Amino acid sequence: MTIPVVRFAPSPTGRIHIGNARTALFNWLFAKRHEGRFILRFDDTDLERSREEFAASIEIDLNWLGIAPDLTVRQSQRFGLYDAAAAKLKDAGLLYPCFETADELDRRRKRQIARGLPPVYDRASLALTDEDRTKLAAERRRPHWRFRLDHRTVEWTDLVRGASHIDCASLSDPVLIREDGTYLYTLPSVVDDIDLGVTHVIRGEDHVTNTAVQIQLFQSLGSPRAPVFGHHNLLATATGEGLSKRSGALSIGGLRDSGVESLAVAALAVLTGSSDSVHAVASLHDLMRQFDLSHVSRNAAKFDPAELTALSARTLHALPYESVRDRLAAHEIAGFRAEAFWLTVRGNLNAFSDAADWWRVVEGEIEPVIEDGGFAMTAAALMPDEPWDQKTWSVWTSAVKDKTGRKGRALFHPLRLALTGKEQGPELAALLPLIGRLKASARLCGHVS
Ligand code: GLU
Repeated sequence: MTIPVVRFAPSPTGRIHIGNARTALFNWLFAKRHEGRFILRFDDTDLERSREEFAASIEIDLNWLGIAPDLTVRQSQRFGLYDAAAAKLKDAGLLYPCFETADELDRRRKRQIARGLPPVYDRASLALTDEDRTKLAAERRRPHWRFRLDHRTVEWTDLVRGASHIDCASLSDPVLIREDGTYLYTLPSVVDDIDLGVTHVIRGEDHVTNTAVQIQLFQSLGSPRAPVFGHHNLLATATGEGLSKRSGALSIGGLRDSGVESLAVAALAVLTGSSDSVHAVASLHDLMRQFDLSHVSRNAAKFDPAELTALSARTLHALPYESVRDRLAAHEIAGFRAEAFWLTVRGNLNAFSDAADWWRVVEGEIEPVIEDGGFAMTAAALMPDEPWDQKTWSVWTSAVKDKTGRKGRALFHPLRLALTGKEQGPELAALLPLIGRLKASARLCGHVS
């Protein structure tokens, strides 16, 4: 297989949501699995609606997910290429001016439907003579430009959907350039895919109908070979609702702020709607090894956002220290005890930020909860000398048991409350050596420590 070059091509007109992230991840995982390149392409030809702040937020969101583009391009800086391609198509008679107004087109479509005909553009403008055009120009009518489709069936082998075809005779010649001279998405996308050497176009199935047109454009622009296409199913909530960029529903930024793990978002996005069950993964690399576009189902990919919290917790519970070292350091959880600390507490975290509470238990000050002062003092007096290790807890609690006759919950629970100030938490056998003798005995004596 040639080394793939893929692109993720959002319009920076809003923040990206988990459905967009899914497309980005499919591209990223596919490229990296085959040691290929990932291009981030901002489809910002709509200068009115595109915003720099959205482009910046998309870069931040991708970065949070673990996606670092090999190249970033902006269509707004590439108009020269599109103009040259348009001129080439015009010279070849493949891009022709049309003068119908939106109202006229609408009336025609309605007439066609009333007669039981498909509402396909009738190419009336293609039949205009030079004289007609001069007259229209004199009336200051500005044309929009349509691509003249070859009325044949275009076939391709889709990476997700398998053998696919579209009969172009059933399509209207697509408008590539609007009356005001601005480009619709179709032409710039193909021009860039050619110029940047894109080998695989992986995108949502809402683009399937564009594919036949785009394949014809690749051929008309002299590209030796169109890319391989793969159209994945779209993500919808359990109630079947689609995700909208504008509504901000399940935006990546919102999910990040809610404290869920990026890896859980990635696993949910990638594994939902495929033949693989949704489960926690240890790293993006792990997800990459499991990922296969041909496992993506053709049915809608329904997911339950509530699953994310549980998946996020399960993800945290298995994260190795190396993958969280920097994030812990950002919470000032560092030093020679940091790794042992992480391995001790990770299984009890619902969100990463909970780690800071447990760091306070081992490093900072907490208010102990003393249920029975006499019992606590007896336990304090029986504490073994340091050094402490994982066995200290059982040695110590056996001694406390022998002395007080307590066992089970009556023995352990008051000790947990005194040592951590909390009802529940990580194994005390692992936590106790991290707390240390000094703090432990102070807490058993009821001191804030
Ligand atoms: N800007 C287009 C979109 O977001 C890109 C589609 C494509 O990948 O070709 O839908």
